[in-house]
This record gives sequence, structure tokens and C-alpha cells, in this order.
Amino acid sequence: MYAKVIVDVPAKQTNRAFDYRVPDSMKDWIAVGSRVGVPFGPRTLQGFVVELHEGSEMDAGKIKPIGQTLDLTPPLTPELVKLGRWMSRTYMCHEITALQAMIPGALKAKYERHVCAREPQGQQHALLLPVQQEIMQFVRSRETVELDSLLARYASEGALIRQLIVEGYLEEIQLVKDRMTTKKALTVFPPEQLEQLDGWIEELPARAAKQKEVLEHFKQQPDPIKLTELLSELNISASTVKGLAERGWLRIEEVEVQRDPYASRSFKPTSPLPLTPEQQQVYGRIRDSLHARQRHVFLLQGVTGSGKTEVYLQSIQSCLDLGREAIVLVPEISLTPQMVERFKGRFGNRVAVLHSRLSHGERYDEWRKIVRRDVQVVIGARSAIFAPFTNLGLIIIDEEHETTYKQEESPKYHARDVAVARARYHGASVVLGSATPSLESIFRTLPQARQQATEQRPAFELLSMPSRVEGRPLPKVNIVDMREELKNGNRSMFSRDLYKAIEERLHKKEQIVLLLNRRGYATFVMCRTCGYVADCPHCDISLTYHQSSKAIRCHYCGYAERELSVCPDCGSEHIRHFGTGTQRVEEELGKLFPGIRVIRMDVDTTTEKGSHEKWLTMFRNRQADVLLGTQMVAKGLDFPYVTLVGALAADSVLNLPDFRSAERTFQLLTQVAGRAGRHQLPGEVFVQTYTPEHYSIISASRHDYASFMQKEMQMRQLHNYPPFHRLVLLTLSHEQVPLLLRSGEMLASRLKELSQSLAGRAEMEVLGPVASPISRIKDRYRFQCMIKYRGETDIASILEQASTVLDEAVKGQKLTLSIDVDPLLLM
Ligand code: ADP
Ligand code: ZN
Ligand code: ZN
Repeated sequence: MYAKVIVDVPAKQTNRAFDYRVPDSMKDWIAVGSRVGVPFGPRTLQGFVVELHEGSEMDAGKIKPIGQTLDLTPPLTPELVKLGRWMSRTYMCHEITALQAMIPGALKAKYERHVCAREPQGQQHALLLPVQQEIMQFVRSRETVELDSLLARYASEGALIRQLIVEGYLEEIQLVKDRMTTKKALTVFPPEQLEQLDGWIEELPARAAKQKEVLEHFKQQPDPIKLTELLSELNISASTVKGLAERGWLRIEEVEVQRDPYASRSFKPTSPLPLTPEQQQVYGRIRDSLHARQRHVFLLQGVTGSGKTEVYLQSIQSCLDLGREAIVLVPEISLTPQMVERFKGRFGNRVAVLHSRLSHGERYDEWRKIVRRDVQVVIGARSAIFAPFTNLGLIIIDEEHETTYKQEESPKYHARDVAVARARYHGASVVLGSATPSLESIFRTLPQARQQATEQRPAFELLSMPSRVEGRPLPKVNIVDMREELKNGNRSMFSRDLYKAIEERLHKKEQIVLLLNRRGYATFVMCRTCGYVADCPHCDISLTYHQSSKAIRCHYCGYAERELSVCPDCGSEHIRHFGTGTQRVEEELGKLFPGIRVIRMDVDTTTEKGSHEKWLTMFRNRQADVLLGTQMVAKGLDFPYVTLVGALAADSVLNLPDFRSAERTFQLLTQVAGRAGRHQLPGEVFVQTYTPEHYSIISASRHDYASFMQKEMQMRQLHNYPPFHRLVLLTLSHEQVPLLLRSGEMLASRLKELSQSLAGRAEMEVLGPVASPISRIKDRYRFQCMIKYRGETDIASILEQASTVLDEAVKGQKLTLSIDVDPLLLM
């Protein structure tokens, strides 16, 4: 048997499968998706098996054998291996990069293979061979055993050990060194020969009643038990157990425990709510699609508070009833305990949670629950889309318009596209939910896009829920023209109307959410006398001030210097940092409303693990009047006493040099307005702006998605932007400008040549090369080209052909070309 293996070297020369022979001893262990160690030149590399076949074109004698298998259960499924190939072609990344993105970080690090004992359901131990029983006994007595040492101890029983794993008697675990901090607990083990217990109980003097009790316990319950549990169960002290251990009758050892970040929480079970007619209709469509195993993609447009989550929950229930599995993606920032609670409350421990705030170990534990089939639902951030389910029925992406679903480093994938690809394979349904669908997604529900639909890029079906649950009104949104405020002598960051509204809420003891977009107000350092701004000497970007370390730092390369006390240019002492916008707002609130209780949530206050949750819980418990923050406060939060929302600088996003800035503004304002008046108390919103006439602000204030979308579509069409054209951003970087410029020109002219040779319905335009908006990072200069294309353009092969001109021309030079397909950030 032979295997094709993709090795862990993300380079162009190694971006293909290499042939290896599968030694007979490994035949039973290796499958498509297995991780293996293979000889590669003088080295041993990690790799993934992507194909298995009998025989090979190559001379059998020349093919090297696979060196070792790294997992007993392959971490990838054949479907995910296939998906990796699709990703590498779609996003122009190395196949290994795509495959690595699918497995938990813990598996990428140093690891040790262990096995532990499990009790498979409904099977009899008697079916095991004596030697297998002995092996089980051995493993059980140790909790976990390193596989290599087990295989060494029972050298001739490899096949029998494997059978134990396949049948579920033994479970494979990776104990990962370095990256994963394992959590350990002192655990008490009974003797290997339980019959001895009786004798020892006799042997103990009568006054050792407590010790007798411990031994009695193990007679009833011969499982290893955590010391703390044993102590509290029998109400004894540790010295009692230690005494027994000293006699050699029991063993106390440190053992790794599974970390379930939600273990200490209890979740109130909830039952399905009777659906509103709108919900019912939407749910009905999804359920029918699930039953028919249609690969439907639904775009569920529901206003904030229309009850989308309840629809998700019931759809998942019907997916589970069909014996299939579901993935739910939510933006990292919305993955609050509150959100998790809604899913755990309904599906209990059938749910795994995956997000980046988990440690490597915690993530790995959650991921293993999926591999073991202990859970059928995964809720998580972007990368949870790779959950290794084998019978997927439903994929839900909440807030589908969020940019967080696009990964900005390689593989630069979009979870929405990956979802559609996986659903195609499984015959699963996809539900994309949002109050403000992205232009890309809404476009695919329009008749014009339906005509162009392909298997790869199917049309979407629009489902809508235009009203809030229980007829609660959407909040009234007031636009405040800040130019008028200035004319009337108000220099404060609060308009008079917003000021009054805050005062009123404080009086009524209701709560307030204030949004200030971070990007509008950076924490840069500027001299007020001469205008000098502290820049990074290696990157074309200003340094940001970090309060905790009293340093100014570059957030691209990490360069840092001490806080400046005099201006290096003019010597003035009037040089200071402009603290985060939110910090300044907090100060001003304190001055204007003495005694006001403010929770500030921004990058500075939420870096610590769990802090995000802590603030939200405080606010929920009404320990603060104001929740002030960046985008973080706009997303998905649901607080009954919030009746006022203020967007302090609505234009800060609008003025960014990005063709999506109007869309972002509309989405942000709609989201934040949706935080008000979600329960009994009606809500009110103030949007402060210097451009009150802009259509994104007017439409958002009227909760009018349709008119925004129409206007925005016209703008996009006019300028050949998505969704009418698709984009590819190519960024070249190098330390020397001349070489960079030359290669940029070469690349662009090759692309232009290729675009001229296109025929039929294909269309393509090449822009650049120009200096990137951030023209230097880490001492490397950056140039970019932009491709706009549509129709049947085989962009992958064009990019492949074009990039080869660089291979020859800049051989040996450290030029990097980064390709971003369907980019969201144009920097
Ligand atoms: P969305 O996600 O669309 O913003 P949510 O799912 O958060 O809306 O629902 C808003 C509120 O309405 C929640 O408090 C939810 O519990 C409640 N809700 C949802 N569906 C129903 C229903 N059918 N009957 C009563 N209350 C509901
Ligand atoms: Zn100066
Ligand atoms: Zn820098």
C-alpha cells in the first residue's frame, strides 16, 4: 500500500503530495487524514495522508516508508482533506496551510501519545482475549499510559491494542508538551488486586474506622477518584488517605484532568418557545430543507430582536432529530456566556464550545468531544467551521456580515464560503443570519445572481423576519448634526440632546450604551506645538501609547520606546498621548455627571482573560449606569434596562478609505441601535454625526435596509466593486524599493497580458502596482496590485501563471507575494 502525503513545509516547491510506502505494520493505523512522520531529505517531517492506493507509478524500491503514525484516530476526515485541496485552489494558499488551519493548535505542537481506559457501551469484557484484559487492567491502573511504552511492554500485541482502540475500550489522547498547560489533580487509585482489600480491612485496628471506610469505598467503587472528591464524600482528612498510601495499599498520583471551561456552571434547561408566525414560516422552510437533505443556503434577514436565535435552536433540534450534526458560528466577541447558555440550556452536554479565548488545552478537549462523537453541536468562532463532524446537517452563521469570518492571514478563507463548500459535500443546509446582510450575500438572493448561480457559488434563498418578537417597536433614532452644536458654542463631545437624554436615564435609573468607534481615535502621540507624531522607524504607521507599560509601541512589529516627555523635533514639552477615545469620554462623563458609574470596554480593559465577561455581568446586574466602548458594545448584547443608545462619532468609520465604509457604517449603527428597548421599556437612540445627509446614516436611522441596499448596490455597480465584480489583492514586499517596483511591474504586465487573452464571458481588469496604504511593515516596503474580475474567469490558473514570472526574475531574493482572494481589508 502507498500513501500520498502533504508535508509540513509551506513552500511552493513542496506544495504537492509526495509518495510513501505504508509499512505492513502500519497498514491498520493509517487512513486518509492521518498525521504521519515521514523522512524528507535528511529530515523527518510531519505530514498528512491525503490519498491511499495500491501500487505506485514510481519504482517501488525508491519509495521511502512512512516513519511513524502520530495519531491513532486520524485528526482529519476524508472530507476535510478534500476541503483542504479546494481551499488551496480557491484562496491560493499551500495545501498544508489549509490542513493545519483545521486542527487544534495543541496538535501542532510537541506531543506525547497516551491512551486511557474507557467503558464502551453495551459490550462485555468477556469478549476480550485474556491478554487484552491484562492490557486493560494495566491501563486502568494508571489512568493514562504513554502509547510507546504500552507498545514496548506488549511488543507483539500491536494489532490487539489497536482493536481495543477501535472498539472503544481504549481512548487515544495527545498529551501536548509546552503549548498546553495541563491541569492536574491528585487522584487516588485502588490496588490492582481488589481481593486484597478484604484482608486489609481486617488487618486495620478498630480505631482506624475512617481508613476502613476508605477501603470499603473502593470495594464498592473501584474507580480512581480525585482526592478532593474522596475527602468530601467520606468526610475525612487527607492524612487518612495518605496513611493508606504509605502502607502501599492505595496509590496517590497527579493525573491530568479534563478542562471544561463551563463545567463549574450549571445551565438552566430551557424548552422551545412557541414560535411567532414569522418565526414559524422561516423555521418551516429550514426544517423542510433538512428533511429533504437539500443543499439550500438560506439568508435569514431578521431585524434585531426578531428572535433569530430561537429559530436557530429549533432548527438545530430538528437536525439532531434526524441524527445529524450542526455547527453554529458566532463572532468571537458575541460568544459570551449568555450566548453559550442559550445553547447549553437547550442541548446540554451535546454542545461543544470553541473559541480563541480558550487555552490550547481547553480547545483540544472540546475538539476531542467532537472526534469522539460525544457532542452533536458545536458553537464557536470562525475556525469552528472545520469541526470534524461526519454527518453534518446544518451550518448556521449568525451575524453573517461580520468581517471576523474572514481570516486575514493565510489561509485567507471566508467561513461563509467554507460553509457552503462543506454543505455541498454533506447535503446540508446553511442558514446565514443577520439584521444587515452583507451586500455579497443579499446579491445572491437577487434574480440577476440566480441566473449566474453555479454549483460552487449557489444562489441564496431569502427568508425574512421584519418585526420584533411580541410587537416591540424598534427604537426611535435621532440624527444629531454636530456642526450645529459647534455653531451654537457646544464644544463637548455630547450634543445637548444626548446630554439631556443621559441625565433623564440617570434619574430614572435606566441604563445607557455609548459607542465610540476605536478607529476614529487612535492612541497616538503628538506634539501640540509643532504637530510632530511619533512614528515607528520600521513601519509606516504611528506608534500607539500603552498606558500599562508607559511605552509607545508599534502594533505591527512590536518596536517600543519610552513615553516621550519632550518633542524630539522642537523640544516642546507639550507632547502628549491622546488616550483612547473611550478614555476621554469616560473622563468627560465623570465631569458632566458626578457620581456616574461607567464601565469602559475597549482593547485596554478587555485583554485579561474573562474580563469581557466580568464587565458584562456587572452591567447586567446594574452595577453601572453606562456601558461605554468600541464595536464590542454593539454586538448581540441583550440588556432589559438599556433604554438609551448613543453613537458618539458616527462618521469615524464612514471616512475610512475603503469602498465598504458606507456598508460598515450602516451595519454598525443598526447593530448598536438594536441594543435599545429590547424588552418592556421602549428605547431611544442618538446618532451624532458631521455628515447627517449621508444615505448610510439616514437609512440606518429609519431601520430601512432595503433603501440602503439599493443605493449601495448602485454605487458598487458604478465602480465595478463587489458584489458585481470580485477582487483579488496581490501584495508584494521586499526590503528594497527598486526590486519591488520592478517585480510589481512585471507581475502587473503579465496579468494584463493574461487578461487580454480571456474569451467569452470572462472579464478582468488589473490596477497597479501602487504603494500599499501601509507602505512599509517591519522594514519591508509594500506594493500592491488589484484585480477586478467577473464572469467565467478562471482566476486560480491566471494567478498561478502570473506568479511564475516572479520565480525566475527574483530567484534567491526574499520577495514575498501575498494573495488575498475576496479581500475585506484593502490595506
Ligand atoms: P435576535 O437574535 O433576532 O436579535 P433574539 O433571538 O435575541 O433576537 O430574541 C429577542 C428576544 O425575544 C429574546 O429575549 C428571546 O428570548 C425572545 N423571543 C424569541 N422568540 C420568542 C418567542 N417565540 N416568544 C417569546 N419570546 C421570544
Ligand atoms: Zn514639537
Ligand atoms: Zn513597526
